[in-house]
Amino acid sequence: VRNNFYLTTPLYYVNDVPHIGHSYTNVLADCIARFRRLQGRKVFFLTGTDEHGDKIARAAKAEGVDPQAFVDKIAPRFEKLWTHLGISHDDFIRTTQERHTRAVQTVLERLHKKGDIFSGDYQGYYCTPCETFWSGGQLVEGKCPDCGRSVETLEEKNWFFKLSEYQSWLIEHIQANPQFILPKSRRNEILSFLKTPLLDLCISRPRKRLTWGIEMPFDKDYVTYVWFDALINYISGCGFPENGARLKEWWPCDIQLIGKDILRHHAVIWPIMLKALDLDIPKTILAHGWWTVDGEKMSKSKGNVVDPYQVINEWGRDAYRYFLLREVPVGQDGDFSEEAIGRRYQNELGNDLGNLVNRVFSMVKRYRQGVIPGPASKSSSGSPETRSLIKDSLELPDQLEGAMAQYDFKKALEAIWRVVDTANRYVEETKPWELAKQEDAKLDEVLYTLCEVIRILAIFLGPFVPDTALKISEILGVKPPDDGSWKAKSRWGELRPKGVLGPSQILFPRKDEIG
Ligand SMILES: [Zn+2]
Repeated sequence: VRNNFYLTTPLYYVNDVPHIGHSYTNVLADCIARFRRLQGRKVFFLTGTDEHGDKIARAAKAEGVDPQAFVDKIAPRFEKLWTHLGISHDDFIRTTQERHTRAVQTVLERLHKKGDIFSGDYQGYYCTPCETFWSGGQLVEGKCPDCGRSVETLEEKNWFFKLSEYQSWLIEHIQANPQFILPKSRRNEILSFLKTPLLDLCISRPRKRLTWGIEMPFDKDYVTYVWFDALINYISGCGFPENGARLKEWWPCDIQLIGKDILRHHAVIWPIMLKALDLDIPKTILAHGWWTVDGEKMSKSKGNVVDPYQVINEWGRDAYRYFLLREVPVGQDGDFSEEAIGRRYQNELGNDLGNLVNRVFSMVKRYRQGVIPGPASKSSSGSPETRSLIKDSLELPDQLEGAMAQYDFKKALEAIWRVVDTANRYVEETKPWELAKQEDAKLDEVLYTLCEVIRILAIFLGPFVPDTALKISEILGVKPPDDGSWKAKSRWGELRPKGVLGPSQILFPRKDEIG
């Protein structure tokens, strides 16, 4: 098994400011990246921005600026949000960067030479008010899908990529690799789409209509279709074409996260491009669902677009991450509402986790002057309640590895929370406040057991709610595990007795106290 792990998010199109949908993909990816690092894998996590095409040319024109100046203004907003959210990406690629342009032109040249790119007549439709080119399949009842007005027929020479040539290969590849498209429903969607013959893909735009794109190296009158250009980032971001050693180190990608709206680009066009280039196919394309807001589709015109900054400001970034990861199984659509995030904040984060940590550390301070007592027993002894809680926490690493191997974030969090619940029940059953009146040894056992469970929980919480995990480790005075050491560190009894607890921190303040 190779130790390197490469994961990507889509490149976000910079005609808009980042919203909840963009941040969802990056939170999922970040959770995977952190989890793999914890397992000791060497991770390369790539995200970035997609900056060509006529939508951007038009947005720039509307602002009266040159497209490069326009994208230079928008792209940093994405980087800023990722910093604000604690996203741990290793590289941020922009399709206007020279490393990328060079890679795209290399791909075009190779495929042209090979005969997979050919020139032909393109028949399509043009909406003059929208300045947009549409294919027959995109029209709605023969009209422009954006504005509903009539369109003109247009015929022009263009460059095409031979998708059709690789259709039967692609079907076989998907059938032979059940993990290639996840979830299964999306895989079936693509297989059913592939029952109709694929049309070759028009990959050029005449310069007379659009100049904002990467020039076709063998025909200066054309620029490259923005999707063909953007997909190549996944290899231009890891060394293609010059750095063969680096490419070999990371490619093929282990997982590419996308939204379900761009599934065909990633599960049909992209693997065929790679096959034509004689490059390996990514192991997994994971398509997640969409977020509605209060049951409605998010749209600018409705004014209900969720601004991640606002939510983070209100609830904190860990609560935001937790909500996105826990609310729905990946692949399904989710609904965002203040009420829904508020419920999870108050119940699972505040009442379950926050209270556990707070009451245990308070008891250690009250009954043992803040000094962690020594364990009265090894994992094999102790009271039945103690043994059962130890057993639960020892089973967690395998449960998490199983859930994360399936990219089941919800299941992973549910497994962690079962231990949180068991620990809370343990407090109720052992009643440390009564033990404090007489039984010294028994109270030591209970408090040590609880501190040790909390320490282990903090290790597992790291990929999901990193700030919270760090705060807990700080109070306990332990270092978060180095990459790869989590199994060793999550063994029972690693917590040294006699350690002094640091200053208390309320992990999830009650909402009415946040003010
Ligand atoms: Zn139109």
